[in-house]
Amino acid sequence: MHDPHTRTDSLYFEYPLFPFVKPPEMAGQTVTHQVVVAGGGPSGLILALELARFGIKSVVIEADETVSEGSRAACVSRRSMEILQANGVEKPFLDQALEWIHGTSYYREHEVFRLTMPHSPDERFYPMANLQQNIFEELLVRRAEALGVEIRWRSKVVGVRQSRGEVELDIDTPEDVYTLRARYVVASDGARSELRRLMGLKLSGESHEGRYLIADIKMASTYPTERRAWFDPASNPGKSVLVHKMARDIWRVDYALDPEDDEETEMQEDRVKARIGRHLDYIGEKTPWTLDWIRLYKAHCLCLDDYRQGNVFFIGDAAHLVPIFGVRGMNSSMADANNLGWKLAAVIHGTAPDALLDSYSPERRAATFDVFANAAKSTRFMTPPTHGYTLLRDAALQLAVHHDFARQWVNPRQSAPYDYVASSLTTPDSDPFFAGPRPGAPLASVKLADGSYLTDLVSERFVLLVFGKTSIAASALAALQPPVTLQTVTDAHAIAAYDAIDGAAYLVRPDGHVCARWKSATADKVRAALERATARSNS
Ligand SMILES: Cc1cc2nc3c(=O)[nH]c(=O)nc-3n(C[C@H](O)[C@H](O)[C@H](O)COP(=O)(O)OP(=O)(O)OC[C@H]3O[C@@H](n4cnc5c(N)ncnc54)[C@H](O)[C@@H]3O)c2cc1C
Repeated sequence: MHDPHTRTDSLYFEYPLFPFVKPPEMAGQTVTHQVVVAGGGPSGLILALELARFGIKSVVIEADETVSEGSRAACVSRRSMEILQANGVEKPFLDQALEWIHGTSYYREHEVFRLTMPHSPDERFYPMANLQQNIFEELLVRRAEALGVEIRWRSKVVGVRQSRGEVELDIDTPEDVYTLRARYVVASDGARSELRRLMGLKLSGESHEGRYLIADIKMASTYPTERRAWFDPASNPGKSVLVHKMARDIWRVDYALDPEDDEETEMQEDRVKARIGRHLDYIGEKTPWTLDWIRLYKAHCLCLDDYRQGNVFFIGDAAHLVPIFGVRGMNSSMADANNLGWKLAAVIHGTAPDALLDSYSPERRAATFDVFANAAKSTRFMTPPTHGYTLLRDAALQLAVHHDFARQWVNPRQSAPYDYVASSLTTPDSDPFFAGPRPGAPLASVKLADGSYLTDLVSERFVLLVFGKTSIAASALAALQPPVTLQTVTDAHAIAAYDAIDGAAYLVRPDGHVCARWKSATADKVRAALERATARSNS
């Protein structure tokens, strides 16, 4: 029998329906919340989880009554998996996700590039894991509920005011509009952010011309999980097609449209089925399939000039729109939440000044520009914007058919973690290191002799990883503000991977990024780096 609490406009995914519950404010109670998260998509939900791991309960305001529609972001990067691990969601995620390493690019009928992403026994996670966004969001909702995060469904932000260190939001609900007070608001309300509009903020940058049709199909094919891209295939002449396998036998097909294609015609189910059928015939895929979801997509490189506006912080698509090629959309949104979470927590707990929150925008905007640079290249490759670009792209593809040297030009570089090397919170190296993550980079994974991984040591506190013997006492570190946890590493493989000698140390932020390292650490050096990493000093 059909469950009345699910939406059924997908043939293959039962959308859970979450009810509106009258909040205390509607019963006349005045509460000032520490943090209100406006928007319960991946970035908002992860931010709420990040806050919860530091003991801060936030309220999430979500306009819809269920999770997002269709696969949308399907590929989660290794770095994002580490963020999920920190938030206790990696196991249910991996129970369903499909991990992968390889990809193949074709020019017409020729294979021109075999992608192999870096992977080794030192890594806990594969470079990529595919799980459609609607399933992923449901996992995040369940985890948030288990941690006591209050998610207010069918509640839409329709007004915002800031004064004297407090933010007021007007929330429209099925029953009435009410006002919600918070010390901090995180705007995670997506690409068409209402908060951005209400605050009169504009995105700047450029939009790419190409349009793509994105479709989910159900197909029980046994073809292995990898990224496949076709350029100028007979099934879509002059254009590209991308295919990804996802969980529960759902496959994602993206194909570029011609500039003259009419959107309404292209969105018609019969038309989509015909085009996808043509491509599946072309690649020799014989498995029966059915269509489940279709959307049009355009690539943008747009962002806000400042992700902080007083006590309102913009994260995810509300802060920036990045092209999805190279799996950069949702992964960069998750990194925003990971960056802002510990900073908000430190300021709320009184272990860092408000100035720490000023570092969020420069760190994450620098990451956004890095994404723009890489994703714009991928987008121009997928859909060359001019005749000149088309000639260049096709020349590279033609050369790659026969020549190894040309294959590097057609490498579909995938999203990579960003190093906060230029951040004011990062202490530059004063000692020579020939290996190991540089200050600003996320901790590099190393498998330890006991079967655990070095990255498992990231915690809610700053961590000092000390290699070999040290004269620094754990009690001296625990007495610092905020307290630092000492972890001694004696594993020979890790010592080599981090170019460490006895007494060498890496100081790691709660988001897993290294903020300083020394060949010979002392408590004074650690204190100075900690002050810098929490914006209490910049030297
Ligand atoms: C068709 C499509 C395909 C995509 N494919 C990919 C892909 O292959 N790879 C990739 O990495 N990314 C992809 N993306 C992008 C990816 O989905 C986003 O980057 C990601 O969802 C960003 O997460 P977010 O939480 O910032 O925003 P969203 O997921 O958009 O979440 C915003 C949330 O805020 C809620 N909301 C909106 N307004 C209000 C309001 N006024 N009050 C309260 N709540 C509000 C919305 O209901 C929503 O739940 C795709 C996007 C689309 C649309």
